[in-house]
Parts: sequence; C-alpha cells; structure tokens
Amino acid sequence: MPHRRPPPSRSVAVGTNPERTRSHNRRVVLETVRQHGLLGRSDIAALTRLTAQAVSNIVAELVEEGFLMEQGRRRTARGQPPMELAVNPDGGMTAGMEIATDHITTVLVDLRGQVREQRRVPLGDVMMEAVWRLAATELAQARAAAGLPKRLLGCGVVMPGPFEVEGMNSVGSSPLPGGAGQDAELRLTEALGTPVTIENDATAAAVGEHLHGLGRNLRHFCQIYFGTGLGLGVIVAGQPYRGAFGNAGEIGHIPVVRDGLACACGQRGCLERYASIHALTETLRAAGIANAGPDAIKRLHAQGHPALLRWIAVAAGLLAPVVAMLENLFDPETVILGGGMPDDVIDALIAAMAPLPISVANRPGRAIARVQRGATGRLTAALGAAALPLLDTMTPKLDRVAVFQDDCTAPAA
Ligand SMILES: [Zn+2]
Repeated sequence: MPHRRPPPSRSVAVGTNPERTRSHNRRVVLETVRQHGLLGRSDIAALTRLTAQAVSNIVAELVEEGFLMEQGRRRTARGQPPMELAVNPDGGMTAGMEIATDHITTVLVDLRGQVREQRRVPLGDVMMEAVWRLAATELAQARAAAGLPKRLLGCGVVMPGPFEVEGMNSVGSSPLPGGAGQDAELRLTEALGTPVTIENDATAAAVGEHLHGLGRNLRHFCQIYFGTGLGLGVIVAGQPYRGAFGNAGEIGHIPVVRDGLACACGQRGCLERYASIHALTETLRAAGIANAGPDAIKRLHAQGHPALLRWIAVAAGLLAPVVAMLENLFDPETVILGGGMPDDVIDALIAAMAPLPISVANRPGRAIARVQRGATGRLTAALGAAALPLLDTMTPKLDRVAVFQDDCTAPAA
C-alpha cells in the first residue's frame, strides 16, 4: 500500500536546481512519488529540494506522458487543498524474465510494481538461438493478455552468474553457453524488440527488493540470495553495485571450510556447498529424501525433520560471520536474506544465526534488525528482472548526473 511517511532524510534522493540536469530531476521526482505513494507538489519540492517551479514543470510533463496521475485533493482544514499525485499504474509495464537452465519465467509488472501477468515454461533446448526464440514467444504471449498497459519500457533478464569467468560455475547448474555479455544483451534486445538488460540473479533480486519489497525505504543494504547458487546483491545509495564486470557479490565461492566439500569451481569448502538450495537438497537426499522442492522443504520444516534442522544449524553457523563481514565491508542499513527458500526456513536460519558476531552494525538504538527476511518471495528473480528497466526509467543515477545533463528525453516508449 502507498504510504506517506518520509524516510529518514539521509535516504532521500535530492534534486539539483539548475534545470540543466532535467533528466536526473525527472527521475528524482518519479522516485520520490513512488516511494511515498501519494504526494502533493509542495511535498515533492520539500523532499527533493527542487524549486516549486521546477517541480511544477516536471510533474506536468510526467502527467502528460502518463507516468504520474492526479489522485484528487487532500482534505485540509482551510485553503485550497493540494492535488495529490501518484505513479500511474497503467502508465507502462516492464517485463522480467528468469532464464534458468530448465525453465523460463516471465512476469509483466506495472509502474506501481503490481504483477499483471506471469508465465512459466520448461526449457528443453539450451542452445542460445532456441532460448532467444522461446523468450520472444513467451514475452509476446504475456503481452497478449487482456487489459494490460500497452507501453513496455524494457525487459530485464536474469541468468545465473558469474558471467564470463573461466572455470567458475555455480553448483547445481551448468551456465547457459553464450548466455551473458554485451553480445547476448544486443541479440536478446533484437529478439524481444525491447531494450534488454541482463543481470545476475542476486543483483536483480536486490533491485526487486529495493523497488518493491523491504528495501523500499532503504538506500544501502546487502541481500544474500538463495538462487541457483548463493549470491549477494548490494544496493549502495539506491543503485546496485555491480563491479567492473557485473560479477560483484559472488559470495558463494568464498571458501569457508578448510579442506571442505569439493565445489564445481575447483576449490574446496565454498560457502554455497553448505548454504544454498542445492546443498540443502543434497543433505536431504543423503537422508533418503529425493528431489525435495520448496513445498516438501516447507513440510519437512513444519515436522521438524532432523536432517533439515541439522542443515539449518550448519548453514546459519557459516552465514553468521559472513553477515558480520558484509556489515564491516559495506556498512549497510540491514542485511536481507531472500530467494527461493520457504519463508519459514529463512526465518529459522536468521534465528539460528543469533548471536551474530560483533561488527560495525552493533549500534545503540538501531531502528531495524541486522538481518531480515526479504519480502518479495519466490518470484524474486523475475520480479527483480522486471525492476531493472524500471530502475533505469525511474530512479536517479546520482553518479551519472553529468552524463545526463543535456538529455531531456522521455524514457523509451
Ligand atoms: Zn566454489
């Protein structure tokens, strides 16, 4: 639900007043309205520190283009009540696609983050040409559903990382050959007929959490993500931190157990050999439970199955120092645990991590917990993917202001 309370001032993106940075300011205005749900023009001016005139111009433009809508007047005791603005859910959609080794999930999300359509098909042929063709068909089918906004702002595609690293594969998967890099992005853009951004699952999930979930009012957080392996998404100042080659946050292959279990990456004792869905499935298989999916895992947890409880204790024991390390490295507002694991199991992992090692996050009067479960659930990767083009359209890139100085164009229609 939309909400009104401004986040603490340090987490507000601020506009710049000379109109030369107009595109940046458009994003600041859109992002501010998105965060707060409903705002009048003077609220926007106060929050973004833009002049009333600048806000008025930008709002007029965004309303005309269909990104914002007027939602009626607020009730006030006296005077002309202000007209409130909200993001227009029908102003456009973004698509999110998770291309895993055995299936493709597609979601269409409107500008308020509501999922308007979702599809899932098995993926038989992993040759890239066939994958691109199936992806294009899936997107077309999803868009053909009734009552959807026509404007598609872009498609985010999530594939398991790491990208273009020799000899480093995630456990439980073979990466799709030729599935990443600029070339793949270009060819997929051609195949889908809309701008495509490819991202690894953990980073996309963190963006999804930032736009639609727990991270909505946070500008600095880390998200440990149970995906194909174990990943980390880092949001710094409202933007994903990707690293120089898009591989930042590959925490699954940090060795945590000396002479531990052999990993597909060639090392021993990697974190994701113990703390991942694959590791849990393996533990359960050794206990005689084959092919346990999320529902079976949820049931086993409810029954207090000893193999599952043992796994939780081991994984939490290894994750707790990692949480403290992330806090010391990034000084985040919180660390989120999320991904394709049942909520109850994530809660149990968090509980089993206590007491967390001491880190810079030990502060008197902390307002939020050091570790929390993500809010976006099992669709996280695809939702995160759909959030990527939205992030490009709506949120200010504070480090790229100069680049946008002369760019007054509207987001791609
Ligand atoms: Zn490894």
